[in-house]
Order: sequence, then structure tokens, then C-alpha cells
Amino acid sequence: MTTPPLELLPRDLAAYRAGNTGIPYVHRFDSGQPGPHVLVNALTHGNEFCGMVAATHLLDRGVRPKVGTLTVSFANVAAYETFDAQRPFESRQLVHNLNRVWSAELLDGSDDSPELRRARELRPVVAAADHILDLHSTSQDVEPFWVYPAYSRNAEVALAIGQPSVHLVMPNGLGSGVPVIQHGRHGIADSDAGVAVVAECGQHFRQATARVAVNVSRWISGALRTRRPARGPRTQAAAAPLRTAADVRGRHAAVPLRAARDRLRDLRRGRADRDRWRQGTPRTGRLHHPHADARADRRPRGHVPARAI
Ligand SMILES: [Zn+2]
Repeated sequence: MTTPPLELLPRDLAAYRAGNTGIPYVHRFDSGQPGPHVLVNALTHGNEFCGMVAATHLLDRGVRPKVGTLTVSFANVAAYETFDAQRPFESRQLVHNLNRVWSAELLDGSDDSPELRRARELRPVVAAADHILDLHSTSQDVEPFWVYPAYSRNAEVALAIGQPSVHLVMPNGLGSGVPVIQHGRHGIADSDAGVAVVAECGQHFRQATARVAVNVSRWISGALRTRRPARGPRTQAAAAPLRTAADVRGRHAAVPLRAARDRLRDLRRGRADRDRWRQGTPRTGRLHHPHADARADRRPRGHVPARAI
């Protein structure tokens, strides 16, 4: 693969190492008011810099929850620190894919690697969160998209946020290990768990990808800390065809994803004037302009890689 333009580069995260939880690179802010606990997790993959930008944005801007708790974590900093601009795809992981090791079997097992040690360290952080946003990016230059298990609780929130507008729904999980968002109760369809979603924000090294990550982080962490989305019949009815349309079942994703995107566009138009459960509306900007879809359609688009997350 040729070296892409590197608009985003790593920055020194030493100032974020200590955190305030006793676990390196984990920062937690408790409002003192009852409410959900939201985890915004960055750098599950070491070269996916958009999460780093979003996490440092939340921390540097002093974003604090009004209710509940916000936790901001940098997951695989060890891999991140190996970044080499000449080989920008090689710092994704050191040994294990940190987004495949979240089964009790592996976490409780005797295998060892930097990623397994970090996952064991982060396990209580992930387990404590009601809602999880795991920030990722892709090697190929594709439209941003959500990835989540096919639970309505996830679809409702991703739909309500509206961007990204493409949803990659996993009816049967990844089929190759357990990702962060399916650890413990978040991987069980019929559980009291909250939302757990991946946002694939665009190509690893693009500035626009970081903007998506920042926006999604602010919207989801703000919205989830206020109140849960309405579970009205319309929302549920919307989620069902969405799952059908985006049900890739391991096949090549492009066609069903486009169907899902079209479906979502229709849904969004129908929902445009409804009261939103979330606070505020997305900032108007290049990426989130009302005609963002049309603009996105003109961008060169590759296929969504099956092994994106
Ligand atoms: Zn990733």
C-alpha cells in the first residue's frame, strides 16, 4: 500500500498518562449527580488517530458531565507510540488486535501480550460503563460509518445522532473474537446494558476524520448523559428495516450498506422536524451540512473493508 498523505500525526500523550483513576491513560469525571456512565475510548488501534484527537479535545476543553459520569481513555498507547510515518499502517497493534480479545476466556486466560495486559487493565473501565463509544478509523478512504451489534438500543442512538449516516450492523457479532463493544453485558442482546457502538470516522490520517470523531464524541457523550432516546413505535419500526438492510452477514458490505444509507436518508428526512431527544443539533459544517450525503456521494469511495474494525 502506498503511503497516504499524513494530515494527522501522533502527538505526545505523556501529559495524559497519569489520568485520575489509577489506570494509565484513563480519565474519569463524576458529576456527582445520578446519571449514566459514558466511556469514550480512543486508540483501540494504535494508528487510528481520530480517537486521540477526540479524547484530547474532551480533556483539553475540560468537557464535564452535568449528570452521570464521563470516562475518557486511550487504549493502545503502546502501539500508538511505535508509529513510523514510513510505515503508517504497522502501528495498529503490537501483538494482538486489541479489538478481538474481550472474551472472558482470553481475559481470564494465561496468554500474554501487551494488548492482553492492557485489556486486563482496562477491563474494569469497560465493564463500569453504561454506554461505550469506541472511536476507530479505516485504512481505506471510505465514508464514515457506525458499527454495532444488531441491538435496537444501539441503532436508536446511532440513528438519532444522524451522522455518520452509514450503519454496519453485525447480526452475529464479528465472528473472529470479541470487540470492546461486546465485552460482557454489552455483547448480550437481551441485557440491561446501554449503548455500545464503534464509530469508524474515515481514513486514519485525514483531518476530516478527526473532526468526525470530535463531533460524534461530543454528541454521544452529551446526549447519553441527558436521557435515553425515546423508544417510541416509530423508532422501533425504523430500526427493523435498518437491520435488514444493513445485515451484511459476512458478505461484501457495499450493496447492503448503500441500501441502508438510502433507507437512513429517507428516515432522516421523515424525522427532520421531530423533536430530538438529544441536546442541541449537530453543528453545521462541511461534514454535517444538510447536503452532506450529496457531497459524500461525489467523493471517491472504496468498499467498506470487511475487517475494518
Ligand atoms: Zn480500528
